[in-house]
Amino acid sequence: MTREMRAAVFKGPYDIEIEMVPVPVIGPRDVLIRVTQSGICGSDLHSYKTGFYISQQQVMGHEFVGLIAEVGAAVDGLAEGDRVTGFYAGVCGECFWCTTGQMILCPALFTNSTGYGLPGAFAEFVAIPSAVIGQNIWRIPDAIDDDTAATSEPVAVALNAVVAAGIKPGDSVVILGAGMIGNACMQAAKNAGASRVGVVEVSTSRLEAARRHGADIVCDARNNVPLDWAKDNFGVGAYHFHEGAMVDVVIECAGSPATISLAFEMVRAGGSIAFVALPKGPELIDISKIVHKLPRILGSLGGDFDLAIDSLSSGAIHTSDLVTHHFSLEDANAAFAAQLDVEGAMKVMIKP
Ligand SMILES: [Zn+2]
Ligand SMILES: [Zn+2]
Repeated sequence: MTREMRAAVFKGPYDIEIEMVPVPVIGPRDVLIRVTQSGICGSDLHSYKTGFYISQQQVMGHEFVGLIAEVGAAVDGLAEGDRVTGFYAGVCGECFWCTTGQMILCPALFTNSTGYGLPGAFAEFVAIPSAVIGQNIWRIPDAIDDDTAATSEPVAVALNAVVAAGIKPGDSVVILGAGMIGNACMQAAKNAGASRVGVVEVSTSRLEAARRHGADIVCDARNNVPLDWAKDNFGVGAYHFHEGAMVDVVIECAGSPATISLAFEMVRAGGSIAFVALPKGPELIDISKIVHKLPRILGSLGGDFDLAIDSLSSGAIHTSDLVTHHFSLEDANAAFAAQLDVEGAMKVMIKP
């Protein structure tokens, strides 16, 4: 008899239903995890609103912590009851990118990964196929609470962005948008030795959280002109024919048309811009700012879970107070509605 479990199943934009679905059946190399809680990611929210990334019947959720319920006979070093997080990246192993060590670029990534193609963690159980510690499943140290543990993935994404942006001691940095990832980028930029880190936001609670976590200066973009704020605080950056601000590194974590163009205005000529957030659709950018300012422009996707878990357990990055809400699986639609409210919520967790 197939065993069944409750899961939050995507039916279409703004519509999730709780259904009984089969518990994933694990093979000898797989692990089954009973989900303790799972956070709603910005990308889950994007999918919830538009259906982008996923098809009908998808169970989302890839930022989770749970306890191992079953271990395949051929899995090394893991046991029932272990507290873990995981992410199975279903890359093909054969394409140009997989065979040249750039697995993150595998075209198959979003069709066969945890919460993208494969069932995710907004369910009682989630499976990690071909489980290998340090590769797609990670043990959570006892010192880390469940809220913190379930933020390992967004923290990994933030750390990756800061490394990609090449932040060096003494750099000035502006983070545009300070949700979970922006806040973690801000903390990681400080840890990397940035001399001054500023945050631009439109939410009072997120501005307060940024300040609490060590932002040197913040800009409430609702009643300030962010470019003027950046010029005042980081200096005026002249470039051919024009002037912007003098920020060494800008990390774009908001994904709005206004912040995307601000990134090009604020960065100094020869500085770096890292794009982390996904905009709703294509955005026009002023190419003359690329030709005349020669910024390094980077996209950032994915990250290193080991580094994230180390940073969280050492206290270098602190996220537990950024988790603002917990909802039961039955209230998944309410959970997504709460996560949509940028003023009221930072990170919403679903507890099956
Ligand atoms: Zn995520
Ligand atoms: Zn591939």
